[in-house]
Amino acid sequence: MRNQFPRRHLPHLGEESPRKLFANKSNMRITNLGFPNVYQSLIKVTVEKFWKGEATEAEVQKALADVQAYNRSAQDGLDLIPVGEIDLYDRMLATSVRFGIVPARFGTPADVIKSLATYLSIPRGIKDKQASPMVKWFNTNYHVVQPEIERDPQWQKDAPLPDLSDPRHILPLIGPWTLLAYSINTTSRSIPELFSILSKEYQKFINSLPEHTKVQLEEPSFLTKGIPQGYEDFLKGVKRHVHLHVYFGAVNDFAERLFALPVAGIGLDFFDGPENLSLLARFPKDKTLIAGVINGRNVWPVSARTEKLLEGVRKAIPEDRLYISPSCSLLHVPLSAKGEKGAFSFAEEKIAELKAVKDGKAKYAPFTQQNPALPKERFTRKRKNYWVSDIAYPTTTIGSFPQTADVRKARSDWRAGKITLADYETYMRKLTKECVERQEKLGLDLLVHGEFERNDMVQYFAENFSGFTVIKGPVQSYGTRHVRPPVITGPVSRPRPFTVPWSTYAQSCASSKGGSASGGKKPVKGMLTGPVTIVKWAFPREDMEQEAHFYEVARALAEEVKDLASAGIKHIQIDEPALREALPINPARHAHYLHHSVNAFRLVYSAMPDEVVIHTHMCFSEFNDILDAIKDMGADVLLIEDSKSKGKVAASIRDSGFPASIGLGVYDVHSPRLPTVEEMLAIPNSLDMDPHRVWINPDCGLKTRGEEAWAQLELMMQAVKILRKGVVEKF
Ligand SMILES: [Zn+2]
Repeated sequence: MRNQFPRRHLPHLGEESPRKLFANKSNMRITNLGFPNVYQSLIKVTVEKFWKGEATEAEVQKALADVQAYNRSAQDGLDLIPVGEIDLYDRMLATSVRFGIVPARFGTPADVIKSLATYLSIPRGIKDKQASPMVKWFNTNYHVVQPEIERDPQWQKDAPLPDLSDPRHILPLIGPWTLLAYSINTTSRSIPELFSILSKEYQKFINSLPEHTKVQLEEPSFLTKGIPQGYEDFLKGVKRHVHLHVYFGAVNDFAERLFALPVAGIGLDFFDGPENLSLLARFPKDKTLIAGVINGRNVWPVSARTEKLLEGVRKAIPEDRLYISPSCSLLHVPLSAKGEKGAFSFAEEKIAELKAVKDGKAKYAPFTQQNPALPKERFTRKRKNYWVSDIAYPTTTIGSFPQTADVRKARSDWRAGKITLADYETYMRKLTKECVERQEKLGLDLLVHGEFERNDMVQYFAENFSGFTVIKGPVQSYGTRHVRPPVITGPVSRPRPFTVPWSTYAQSCASSKGGSASGGKKPVKGMLTGPVTIVKWAFPREDMEQEAHFYEVARALAEEVKDLASAGIKHIQIDEPALREALPINPARHAHYLHHSVNAFRLVYSAMPDEVVIHTHMCFSEFNDILDAIKDMGADVLLIEDSKSKGKVAASIRDSGFPASIGLGVYDVHSPRLPTVEEMLAIPNSLDMDPHRVWINPDCGLKTRGEEAWAQLELMMQAVKILRKGVVEKF
């Protein structure tokens, strides 16, 4: 009984209301847009073995076939079943290759289709061949491999195809406009020229499919880039049954043109775009509507919200022209909620819900939209000036140190009850002490405790806050990388300090010879994940707007910050790597989002005494469109990723009148390679800025590195010695 679970898991849903049932089984049909590829982690495990030389190509293909077969059976009973949308790595990569979009450094498209090793090296890189970049898929937590267009696209007849013989099968296909919107174009052709070429290749491909084939053409980029010139002509040349889908938002800006396109059906998202409901009066009488009325991006059981949306849809569209579906592909949720602590609705449960809705047997959980008032005041500190270091080119790290196999084993042994909590903590303290001592030996100025006790920067907070439920089922983040986003199930609070013991223990390990702070000891930084990142990398409540979640989490974090400061921790870092990616797709919502995300961040530290220094770190380098917001965050030190752009990001931040200090990530931590002193020196040397406001640090946390992390840091400290020699001290 999916929706009969303890209320503590769904406190926002209010009292159980009498179940409403649709009187009769209906004639509307049901479909789905895509399914997760995580069944038994078969694909992940086999592909990773293949990379290590421990699995054959045939074994990898069998893993894919097994997952495809499982997915088909899990979706049996749908009137239309998506097939061929899951891939060994990612759909965007597969679609690019189908249309001959392959970086020349990896060979020809035919080479890539012939060799699995080559195909799977595009997103990873190999020897001297750099990997294709990975980018976020809209504002989800999923990433795709960016197509690199270096020559004219050309349909590849030999690219693999799923079994389309069953007329219930539909082939999902990222549309040509969305593919182009995600591409890097290094040809001399303009985007309209490329669209014209690529869309003709799409026509050839689609028209080559068996005549009864239905195609699910996905163009979410209409939301960000509009409908391009020539899209009508492209569709006129397509001789198959097409369902055109625009998910992740409302289509009001271009509804008239969208509705007039020559396709059999149009798919709309009523969750991320509830405004779509008001457009249905104008929905064309000759087309089918595929109505996304079940939230494909969240894990809550079907509620009265769906019931209401469905009512609106059914009023406007007759059942014989109506499919209902999730709002987007279900790749954004885990596979099955069996065995979870809480009656969630993951991919398999959502399929069951679709069937229940169709049969009039759905039990809609009560739903009331909560509208907690967002704070009107702007949170601010008493002190007006930013803190500046008295050391030239001060040094620090981003926070985490390598988590070796031993660390992970200790954690899993403790969770499995093989060792006691006391033993686990003793071991973690030993690692922390060693880590502090090694940092001191290197001469780093601002120390960290190393974060050995943390599994993941969001999950760790979810486990220590009230109001979160941690789940087991994985979600694909990119390629073979899986994550387990926690679920925000209730009001968030912090029952007791949890980072404080680690930070104060690390501080006690610092030798008393070091620096001026903390009784003559070198200071240790307290480490927190910011409110936006915690919310963005979790499944939020459905009944409360994202911005209200930010403040709730920020209040819980503010408690922790207060306790850190009371315990004598003078430097506190609050990371917000998700700030940029959580930007809404709809530009009209940017100002609201940026105002409240920044204000929630400020709330975390605003009550701090003047001497407490606030640091923040972001793992991205596209600052330009949110520079004002970054400045407005008010941190004393902004630690960025600048090794790949060689100081250009810092320069543009400085040029914008950034008033605080910048931490230059001077080397790339994602590679085991030892950076040269010269290349690290080049970054601060290119930046004309007060050396007391320029921090030197790695460009991200060192968690995934091995022992080489220490050698890299040693080289960084050599570079700092040279830098400081060039500085004439002010005092
Ligand atoms: Zn980072």
